[in-house]
Amino acid sequence: MMTEPSYRLPRRVVPRHYRLRMEPDLDTATFAGSEVVTLDVVEATDHVVLNAAELQIDQALFVRGDARAEAEVECDDEWQRATLRVSEPLSAGRWELRCRFTGILNDQLRGFYRSTFDDEEGNEQVIATTQFEATDARRAFPCWDEPDFKASFGVTLVVPEDLMAVSNGAEVEQAPLGDGRVAITFADTIVMSTYLVAFVVGPFEATAPIDVNGVPLRIVAPRGKMRLTGYALECSRFCLDYLATYYGIAYPGDKVDMVAIPDFAFGAMENLGCITYRESVLLVDEEIATSAEKMRILDVIGHELAHMWFGDLVTMKWWNGIWLNEAFATFMEMKAVDAYRPEWKRWLEFAAAERPWAFKTDELAGTRPVEFEVRSPAQAEGMFDGITYGKGSAVLRMMEQYLGEEPFRAGVENYLRRHAYGNTETSDLWESLDESSGRPVGEIMDTWILQGGYPQLTVGITDGGISLEQNRFLLIPDPADTRTWKVPVRLRGMAGGHPFETSVLVEGSLITVPLGGPVDWVIANAGGHGFYRSRYEEPLLEALVGRLHLLDPVERFVLVDDAWTFVESGRSGVSRFVSLASAFGDEREQAVWGALLGAIGAIGHHLVTDGARRRYEGWVAGLLAPLADRLGWAPADEETDLERRLRGRVIDALGRLANLPEVVEQARSVYEQRLADATSVDPEVAGAVISVCAAHGDADTYERFLDRYRTVRNPQESLKHLRALASFDDENAVDRTFGLITDRTVRSQDTSWVLARMLANRVTGPYAWSKFKDRWHGILEIAPPMTQSRMADGFPALSHPEVAADVAAFLAENPLPHAAKAVEQKLERLSALVKMRERETGALAEVLPE
Ligand SMILES: [Zn+2]
Repeated sequence: MMTEPSYRLPRRVVPRHYRLRMEPDLDTATFAGSEVVTLDVVEATDHVVLNAAELQIDQALFVRGDARAEAEVECDDEWQRATLRVSEPLSAGRWELRCRFTGILNDQLRGFYRSTFDDEEGNEQVIATTQFEATDARRAFPCWDEPDFKASFGVTLVVPEDLMAVSNGAEVEQAPLGDGRVAITFADTIVMSTYLVAFVVGPFEATAPIDVNGVPLRIVAPRGKMRLTGYALECSRFCLDYLATYYGIAYPGDKVDMVAIPDFAFGAMENLGCITYRESVLLVDEEIATSAEKMRILDVIGHELAHMWFGDLVTMKWWNGIWLNEAFATFMEMKAVDAYRPEWKRWLEFAAAERPWAFKTDELAGTRPVEFEVRSPAQAEGMFDGITYGKGSAVLRMMEQYLGEEPFRAGVENYLRRHAYGNTETSDLWESLDESSGRPVGEIMDTWILQGGYPQLTVGITDGGISLEQNRFLLIPDPADTRTWKVPVRLRGMAGGHPFETSVLVEGSLITVPLGGPVDWVIANAGGHGFYRSRYEEPLLEALVGRLHLLDPVERFVLVDDAWTFVESGRSGVSRFVSLASAFGDEREQAVWGALLGAIGAIGHHLVTDGARRRYEGWVAGLLAPLADRLGWAPADEETDLERRLRGRVIDALGRLANLPEVVEQARSVYEQRLADATSVDPEVAGAVISVCAAHGDADTYERFLDRYRTVRNPQESLKHLRALASFDDENAVDRTFGLITDRTVRSQDTSWVLARMLANRVTGPYAWSKFKDRWHGILEIAPPMTQSRMADGFPALSHPEVAADVAAFLAENPLPHAAKAVEQKLERLSALVKMRERETGALAEVLPE
């Protein structure tokens, strides 16, 4: 039997330092490079294997003292490797490898790539930049492109004199070459993985550096955008300081540059000291941005800076560990945001956004364990999803709350100190947390990390307490699945007339918890940190619904979110949800309304027939009327950001779900007012108004929005209008948006989510699907591979049985090559929603008020 060749490079030769010189030519979209790699030959060998892809290696010479050995170069495209063969074996010991090579600046947003943008005068400008994670450093220079081959890097970039260049280290020298170019040399980095190396070249400018505990910090942006950098600078200053304090370790690099890149496949990338961002998550006009847009920027900055320690200083040995890298940075992002802007209630928003993102995948039979064996880096691509970011960070938060914040923090510090500049396995973190907390962290975490899915706890009444029974929660239930978890549960409530609050670890399938008397009410996910759903026996649920004012906002959120998911999965009927929603008339918390309106929107999307539409609209308008009366259209001075966000939600729902003509009319007039003076309208109202105008927009509105998208020089404003362009309830608009994708008016970085948004439209989604099929191959060429899984986000909305069947059949014939797992998952969700439509449509019609 043949064994599969190992993907891993041989360990006979180990790089220690790369001296790199890169000369990009922005006009021809090519580059020339040279490198001198200091390496240790561990055992004598006549060939050295390293990674290279789409590179022409012109020379490879091994040098040791007076000894020289010219190598023959053999490239293997499939394995993205180069083998350097020498006639006499290289002796063990230290050698230098000197290489000269050339390559192309591609337009795939990976490796060393080219990106363009229009400057303020409308002239096209070109930049060259890098994105190496996971395995694309090999497209820029020959290297040992695996995370545990850590080395230091000394980079020199040769660029035209009028351009700016940034890399990981601080700039140490500029040497003019006399031909209009300058060689800019950067300080050597710490030892780190190849995927963290970065070069950026182009017409950029930078803010003056500010000092954060001795570290110079700047924001770098395309020329003409300096006025949008102030907010990011303040957020970065706070997070850099906060994180160094939390970790108890100084920042590991010599400077921090935050660089805004016009074309970027991901949100941002944690290159040590040279963090790259899409513009919309770094640059912002504070005066007209919503708090959600500002929070997103703070989020991403916190996340990337958290990686400087967790990921960059200490790095996973191999790509199976990428989940911990991302999950931990996401967890730290929440902590940093919560510390900087406590009024934004980031952990509540986490429960409302990131955790449900994970739940929605993890309740499918086609989910995956958080950590799995990764043979080739291509398999690691599938790790950048809601399970890694959402579930990974949610179970870390659950653990932190169970162990206590300080024991958890101490364990993290201990882990970073112990493994600084090195590489680790997941179990190394658990060991440090075991030590700092005295609890079996590894045993508990293994049940969450190494098996897919999550539990539902059924809460029953016993004599003098409650019972907790755990089962796997699946959207399409499977009684044969008997897996269990070790679940840290926090209980709060009233028993025998006395309040109680207690923690238990649920192991096995059933436990009873004595509470000292008959239980009056109990919340089974107190504080809302548990990664599970709670299903209450009827009297217990009634007791909670009658005491909503005693629950924390996050607990009310969880109640609503669980209740709606039970409808989706057929455990409960939609009529129950309709009556639950009516109990929230006094609700003031925007996140709770977010859950209610999310479910109400889903009801309107999947369950309302044309004949029942008017009654549905009346029901929504009635539910929101008291809130709408109280909030009006303009904020009062003393309002918090979250109260303002609630107003945005209400206007959006009244305009798009209830379709109230007076709201649509008012939205149009506010839009005009805002065009005349952007600061005259509250940003949250403005966001809602754009969305309402699109839902009721005609061809003229479309063209005006398109013009705004094209010309406005503010990333959030541009993005709002692009989102709107994908949301018109009109088939001509769908055609028009497809045209914008094909002619690249929509940047390729945005193609996948724009498509998903069109598919998710209640009215035109099926039409968009038919058009998508026609243009399938062309679109797959445009959308960058690593973004394609986002297209699949639109599939579950297509729940008309005949459309759903067509979607499944088409995708069986035409797989999405870079998103196979995501497609499988979204189709499973789609089939559950088809069933819900069939099961609940009639039931809904009966309960909607006349
Ligand atoms: Zn990350």
